[in-house]
Amino acid sequence: MMTKIETDVLVLGSGPGGYSAAFRAADLGMDVTMVERHDTLGGVCLNVGCIPSKALLHVAEVLTEAEHSEDIGITFSKPEVDLDKVRAFKDKTVGKLTQGVAGMAKGRKVRTIHGNGSFVGANELSVIKDGEETRIHFKNAIIAAGSRPVSLPFIPEDPRIWNSTDALTLSAIPPRLLILGGGIIGLEMATIYQKLGSEICVVEFADQLIPAADKDLVKVYQNYNKGRFDVRLSTKVTGIEAKEDALYVTAEDAKGNTWTEKFDAALVAVGRKPNGDSINAEAAGIKVDERGFIPVDDQQRTNVPHIFGIGDIVGNPMLAHKATHEAHVAAEVIAGHKAYFAPLTIPSIAYTNPEVAWTGLTEKEAKEKGLNFSTAVFPWAASGRALGANRSEGKTKLIYNKDNGALLGGGIVGKNAGELLGELSLGIEFGAEVEDLALTIHAHPTLNETVGLAAELANGTITDLP
Ligand code: FAD
Repeated sequence: MMTKIETDVLVLGSGPGGYSAAFRAADLGMDVTMVERHDTLGGVCLNVGCIPSKALLHVAEVLTEAEHSEDIGITFSKPEVDLDKVRAFKDKTVGKLTQGVAGMAKGRKVRTIHGNGSFVGANELSVIKDGEETRIHFKNAIIAAGSRPVSLPFIPEDPRIWNSTDALTLSAIPPRLLILGGGIIGLEMATIYQKLGSEICVVEFADQLIPAADKDLVKVYQNYNKGRFDVRLSTKVTGIEAKEDALYVTAEDAKGNTWTEKFDAALVAVGRKPNGDSINAEAAGIKVDERGFIPVDDQQRTNVPHIFGIGDIVGNPMLAHKATHEAHVAAEVIAGHKAYFAPLTIPSIAYTNPEVAWTGLTEKEAKEKGLNFSTAVFPWAASGRALGANRSEGKTKLIYNKDNGALLGGGIVGKNAGELLGELSLGIEFGAEVEDLALTIHAHPTLNETVGLAAELANGTITDLP
C-alpha cells in the first residue's frame, strides 16, 4: 500500500543542512516534511563526521596532556585506554545530539519520514523503506542529501581498508596504520589513532599536508609532530594487496622511487563525492554536474525554480557551517524573503594537534590574486598564556591590504587555534582594518591576545617581541 503526503516544503536529508532548513522553514510557518534514509537524524556531521571525530580528538588530547605532564612536574603512570569506554563516550556524545535534533523536529511538528528518497517528478518524491512506499507531493523542495567518501579504483574491498566512517567505529587499534590522504579528515584520524597506539604513516600526493592551508602554518604542525607520524609527501599509493597476514601497500614518489610496505590497516581519506547522482534528480529536471554536484544560484535555487540545494551536494567547501547558513537562505527564500548566500569568508579548521585554522584569503590566494598585501605574524613563543600552558609552538598570522590596512585573511596554528578564528571572520565580514583589531583591547593573558598583538605588529604600535 502506498502512503501519500502533501507538504509545503520537502527537505531531502537530515544533516546540518537538512535539519537547519527544516527548522527554519517550520519556524517561518510552513508545513515541512524531512526525509532521511538512516534511523537517526543529523547526517554525516552528527553521526559519522564532525561530532564523533571531535569526541575522539578530545580523548587524544587528554592522552597528550598526560604525556607532557612530566614537563610541568607531574608524573602519572602510563595511561590505560579502555576502548569500549572510549567508544561509549563517543556514542553517548553523538546520541545526545541526534536525539536533540529529533526532539527539535518534533517540537516544530516537522514530519520525519525514514527511507530512501528519489524524485519521481518535479513535485513528487518517492520514499522506500522496507518495501513500503510513501509518495510526497511538495510545493517546494530543499535537497540536502550530502556526500559520501570516495575510494580509488585500485583499492580492493577488505575489512582492513577503511573509510572515515569505518575508522570512527573504533573496531580495533591496528599496530601499523596507513593514512591515504593528508587532508583534514586524514590528519584528524591520524591524531586519534596515534594517541590510541597505532604507528602512523601518512601518504599525501601533494607536496604539503592540508594542501588548502598556507605552508608556514602547516610547517608548525608538522614540526610539532616530527617523530609522531611518518609523513611521505609528493607520493601516491599505486596499489594495495590484501593478503592474509597484512595489507601490502605500494607507492611511488615524485622522483619515480617505489616502495612496498606492510600495514595492518589503511584509512582512505582522499575526498568525498556529492550524492547528486543518487536521488534520481533527472526525474525532476534538476541539473547535476559531472562530479555529482547540483549547481545553485546565490539564493540556493537549482535550475528548477521551486527546488533548492544546500550543503555538501552543492559544492565546496564541504563543511557543516556552510550547510547551515545555506539552509537558512533556502528556507527564507521559499518564505518570500530576499535572502542571499554571500559570505565574505567560510572558516576552515583542522582539529589536529596543534589545530590549523584559517579564514578569508590565505597568503597563497592573496598572491594568486596579485594583491598588494602584507602579513603580520605573532609567534606564540612570545605569548605568556601559551608558555604557561606549555604549548608555545603556535603562531597567529594576519594578512592585510598594504594600501588601506583592510583585513583580508588570517591563519592560526596552535592549541585551540580554531576557537580564536571567530574574531578574524567577524573582522572580515565587518570590513575591519588591522588598526581596528589593534585598538580592540584583548584580555591578558589569553591566546586570543595573539590576534590583537599580531594586529599591533601590523599597525606599528609594537615593534619587537620579548
Ligand atoms: P550530510 O550531513 O551528508 O547529510 C545528508 C543526509 O542525507 C544524510 O543523513 C544521508 O543519509 C541523507 N540522504 C542522502 N541521500 C538520501 C536519500 N536518497 N534519501 C534519504 N536520505 C538521504 N565539517 C565541519 O564543518 N566541521 C568538522 O569538524 C567536520 N568534521 C568532519 C569529519 C568527518 C570524518 C567527516 C566525514 C566530515 C566532517 N565534516 C566536518 C563535514 C560535514 O560532516 C559535512 O560538511 C556536513 O555533514 C554536510 O552536511 P549536509 O547537510 O550537506 O549533508
